[in-house]
Amino acid sequence: MKCPYCNQNMEKGFINGDRYSLKWIEESRNKGTIVSVFQKGIKLTDAWSSNQLETYYCKGCKKMIIDVSDKLK
Ligand SMILES: [Zn+2]
Repeated sequence: MKCPYCNQNMEKGFINGDRYSLKWIEESRNKGTIVSVFQKGIKLTDAWSSNQLETYYCKGCKKMIIDVSDKLK
């Protein structure tokens, strides 16, 4: 994947979750890790199967990109 900021190749890697599935929740609704199970958001990982998130990192810009197109089911 090319970095949208500098157009260099980004490095593919993974963010590994712990006990809970990772979920993106908008700021106004965010109440922390424990209750996030019950909140609406974009579920990024599943703690019961593969609790890891594919992520692309640009070493130049120090930014990470997460493609969530397959998370929006
Ligand atoms: Zn970049």
